[in-house]
Amino acid sequence: MKIGIIGGGQLGMMMAEAAHKNNHYVVGLDPHSDCPLRHVADEMICASYDDKTAFDELVNKVDVMTYEFENVDIDLVEEYAFMFPQKAQALTVSKHRFTEKEFAQSLNIPTPQFHMLTDIKSIVPPVILKTTTGGYDGKGQYIVQTHDDLNQTSIDISQEIIVEEYIDFDYEISCIVTRDLSGECAFQPLPRNTHKEGILWLSDVTEPLPITVVKQAKSYTKSLVDTLDYVGTLAVEFFVKDNMVIFNEFAPRPHNSGHFSIEGTTVSQFDNHILAMTGEKVKMPTQTSPTLMLNILGEDLDYLKYIKDIPFGHIHMYHKTDARPKRKMGHVTFVHNNSHKLITEITTLIEAMS
Ligand code: ADP
Ligand code: MG
Repeated sequence: MKIGIIGGGQLGMMMAEAAHKNNHYVVGLDPHSDCPLRHVADEMICASYDDKTAFDELVNKVDVMTYEFENVDIDLVEEYAFMFPQKAQALTVSKHRFTEKEFAQSLNIPTPQFHMLTDIKSIVPPVILKTTTGGYDGKGQYIVQTHDDLNQTSIDISQEIIVEEYIDFDYEISCIVTRDLSGECAFQPLPRNTHKEGILWLSDVTEPLPITVVKQAKSYTKSLVDTLDYVGTLAVEFFVKDNMVIFNEFAPRPHNSGHFSIEGTTVSQFDNHILAMTGEKVKMPTQTSPTLMLNILGEDLDYLKYIKDIPFGHIHMYHKTDARPKRKMGHVTFVHNNSHKLITEITTLIEAMS
């Protein structure tokens, strides 16, 4: 089949790699001529995401369309809804942090308490303030632990802001699922995620999570994708506190915390996404070995020489030339049949990088 991908980042690139394994043809759309997807796609259209002519051109070239990020023009996705198995609703809901949390609450999924900011004086710390739209990788967020923080913060209150209860979580996880046209759901093993300044840094799938945590996360995620009648891969981020799972946000696409599945399971989040997009049944992933995924950010490139020496590391670089700090340049997945050995052998590296 011919698959159109909107967005030429690393997620689009890895979708295209999965598509090629099944001999599909990929056409990408991205405004940057040197984007990661360009290195893998069969064809690229270089235009902005809301360029109607380019969008029409792409739709006419392919059998099915997918998006790899949330900044897609929703009006265009709605106009061509029949081309997008993922549909527009998941995008509309997840694009706005208030709508997103309200949606979770409507499904009885626990969330931090939240409200829209109307008066800065009414804030009771500890809270976290977030711009309602456009934020990612911790951007547009302000942690307010005390009233002093509030005086010092550079928050721009001309923007729409959501005030969230600050959760002193024990750890964070994500639940990555792929739902096919028949409604069958294939879950990846659940990673435990560590963030560095709001950006995902590590996804650890070396030890299984408590069964009760996994059950809650899967059941909340299933009710979310079923209600949205979503088709494709989707990830939900959760906080875990005292073995209770609390919803943070979801992304209607493959997710950075699911990259471990390329080497760590029998069917990756990208493989299943492509199966779902092309009308095939999803396959149930099983974990092959304990696995740990580490993001390589712009400031981490000097460590690559050490990473390359670790024999059980699988390096994926995204062909990005401009190595800005905090920019995701690649990732490495460590896969080892002995989780203790895996952890001990990479501890020095992780400590040096943290
Ligand atoms: P982004 O869209 O940037 O990923 P998130 O809402 O996921 O935004 O926030 C990024 C990170 O900030 C989270 O993974 C978590 O570590 C921290 N964080 C976000 N919201 C809260 C909260 N309510 N309480 C505590 N930590 C939070
Ligand atoms: Mg997040």
